[in-house]
Amino acid sequence: MSKTKVELFAPGDNRDLYSGLIRLHVLHHAAEEPIFGQGMVEELARHGYRISPGTLYPLLHGLEKRGLLRSSEVQNGKSRRKVYRATATGRKALLAAKGKVRELFQELIEGR
Ligand SMILES: [Zn+2]
Repeated sequence: MSKTKVELFAPGDNRDLYSGLIRLHVLHHAAEEPIFGQGMVEELARHGYRISPGTLYPLLHGLEKRGLLRSSEVQNGKSRRKVYRATATGRKALLAAKGKVRELFQELIEGR
């Protein structure tokens, strides 16, 4: 297990249950528009996920390493900001995951 995973899945919390949902959520937004770390922290907080930049950044790097996201630097006022977009591979993975989420939703929520 990597160091990041140990920090992500501290004993006694259930965040490991949500880690896939968080990744899908990130992928979904990155497929719609370029995302950046702090914006995504706020978006996830809006949905009730408290995730620190220290947890989100390794997650973004991991998705990029796997070819699902691609980062680029854009000028933001005086500073430069790293933004991420979904790659074609990322969009394909998202589409495949949607089918699985739909099926899980039907079973969990709709009981069928
Ligand atoms: Zn969202």
